[in-house]
Amino acid sequence: MRRRLDRVGDEFELRFGGKPEVWMRAPGRVDLMGSHTDYNMGHVLTLAIEQDTWIAARPRRDRTVAVYSLNAEGGGPFDLDAIAHDWTAPWTNYVRGVADTLQRAGYRLCGFDGLVHSTVPIGSGLSSSAALEVACALIFVELGGWSIDPVRLAQLCQRAENEFVGMNCGILDQYSSTMGQKGCALLLDCRDLRSEPVPLGEDTRVVICDTRSRRELTGSEYPERRAQCEQGASLLAQFYPGVTALRDVTIDEYLAHEADLPLAVARRCRFIIEENERVLGLAEALSTADRGAICDLTAESYVGARDLFEIGSSEMAAMMDAMRSAPGVIGARQAGAGFGGCMVALVDAPQVSGFARHVEKTYARVTGIKPKVYAMHAAAGAGPLPTVPANRAS
Ligand code: ADP
Ligand code: MG
Repeated sequence: MRRRLDRVGDEFELRFGGKPEVWMRAPGRVDLMGSHTDYNMGHVLTLAIEQDTWIAARPRRDRTVAVYSLNAEGGGPFDLDAIAHDWTAPWTNYVRGVADTLQRAGYRLCGFDGLVHSTVPIGSGLSSSAALEVACALIFVELGGWSIDPVRLAQLCQRAENEFVGMNCGILDQYSSTMGQKGCALLLDCRDLRSEPVPLGEDTRVVICDTRSRRELTGSEYPERRAQCEQGASLLAQFYPGVTALRDVTIDEYLAHEADLPLAVARRCRFIIEENERVLGLAEALSTADRGAICDLTAESYVGARDLFEIGSSEMAAMMDAMRSAPGVIGARQAGAGFGGCMVALVDAPQVSGFARHVEKTYARVTGIKPKVYAMHAAAGAGPLPTVPANRAS
């Protein structure tokens, strides 16, 4: 922590001269259950993770935001009164998008010099993008001297990613980052945006297993899945008036009209409807420490993701085998949008190091790729960095 603070502070000083005055952090997230259920208005069991994105900043007197990242090339100044995309440093579009969206929503923004640093692996399904958006939004909140409800902030960051960056993600990532609770998963209802804490007992650890691979994608896979789900919901609405999203359809209603749906659409629908039920099942199983149910539900989620939603990959299969055969495993499944990236296991706390060693060895032997394994506790949602004395204002 101290080393990271010093490093970011020193780099800030080198780049801008002088010290940062405000520090904000926003965590990444991992879902324990609920792949692709967010944009179907369903439930997700999610938690904020210890890996996070920091922005160290200092206000400017003009209307310029000058932002750089220790994790990416490029960056530099842009004008808050003429926000355009920058395709030479595409990562800055997340920052520009947040600025543009907040201003369009009527918030008054102040320019700043800022330096970003993240420990969230980038592009691995742990939502480094939302962590960047939320951290940046919090800098604007602090320097603008106003306050905002964290759910509203999450919605505005999602809008920035949807409309400015052009990624049609659901609310899960931004919500988890602003609303995370230390030691708890959140049972999130993506329709009413309410969540309940689900304590993760001291005897269970969340372990993220990064396959460090990505399935070759054209970029159309995510929007295509989303479109298929929306098509399924509108076809089913012909039989069940009032259905506006797959969240509204029960498995029996679906089965009665499965044959009325195109085959691929039917598979996607079935997965989402079952996955949504599994979210509630896993929340219950965690509260009653029912390890058998945790094992079964997570395994079913993986099989559905692979066979029905078709977001698997050979590396994910190898990782699943490695996790499921490791000592101390309680349950294991995919995480994030799938197509490679990170997976997640619930592990008996005293056996975490044996679990990690087994996964590293087994996965590397099968794939030739050295994975990354992170055991963690659920972290608090985004906010000022707590340990910076007086937020380093000097
Ligand atoms: P994920 O959110 O799963 O990590 P995405 O593809 O949604 O993957 O977002 C990754 C993108 O977010 C990166 O390519 C980059 O543009 C941006 N990004 C995230 N974190 C940072 C960071 N610390 N510095 C610069 N860019 C970042
Ligand atoms: Mg993302």
